[in-house]
Amino acid sequence: MAAQEPPETYWDAHCHLSDPRLDSSREAVIRRARDCGITRFVQGGVGPEDWQRQLRLLERYPEQILPVFGLHPWWISENGEASSKNALRDLAGLLNRAVAIGELGLDFSPRFPIALRELQQHFFREQLEIAGHHQLPLVLHVVSAHTEALELLTKSPPLHGGLIHAFTGSLQTARKYLELGFTLSIGGRITHPGSKSEALRKMIQELPLDRMVIESDAPDQSSLGFQGRLNEPVSIIEIAGVVARLKSATTPTILRQSKLNLSNLFGARQIKAQS
Ligand SMILES: [Zn+2]
Repeated sequence: MAAQEPPETYWDAHCHLSDPRLDSSREAVIRRARDCGITRFVQGGVGPEDWQRQLRLLERYPEQILPVFGLHPWWISENGEASSKNALRDLAGLLNRAVAIGELGLDFSPRFPIALRELQQHFFREQLEIAGHHQLPLVLHVVSAHTEALELLTKSPPLHGGLIHAFTGSLQTARKYLELGFTLSIGGRITHPGSKSEALRKMIQELPLDRMVIESDAPDQSSLGFQGRLNEPVSIIEIAGVVARLKSATTPTILRQSKLNLSNLFGARQIKAQS
């Protein structure tokens, strides 16, 4: 009997499996992902409570979870300067177990008062410095603030790369991130109808496959197939399917390349994370 090829496995470039909304379904969510060949999950870190939840998740799923710890601009905006300062002190003690620092970045969407922008920028700069010190790649959250984020990143260019999670900017913006060594992470938005998603699909046609990864952002950012319910890592199959059509490739080719890009970015650090 011919030896059977081991089944191909894929990675989700960005999700939040530590999110309490998944408490009652997490096991099933991870099982459903595994049944589709998705075996590893790069996390997005939010703040101290989330870091503790990620550590517990890492204990339970040491092979599957790639932990990422960092202060999210939402957390900074909601918790203020003193708490963010304290959190940064705790963060330093965790980073020897992280594959990357994040989510760090800027969110200038109207939900946050303009007065908070300086606070976000301050802790973005602080975390960029910490990342350099710990030689870690970055997981960036940038919404309505690409100009400001690129300005800060150009001043202190990242030495270990990173990804821009759920990228939805223009081709011109994409090229600037690529020049700085970043990889763009593509999420569920491209599965939706509408002109914004159409612009994103057009942009993807111009992007090189070796600088692009596929993320679910579960339990958020539902793709078309998950609207109205919690998103799951299995949605990367649908997202990769759309990218595959745009690139005249197959879905497995897209997911294979995404995994390769992720393992180049984060893979070498995984052993460190588990030790
Ligand atoms: Zn996220």
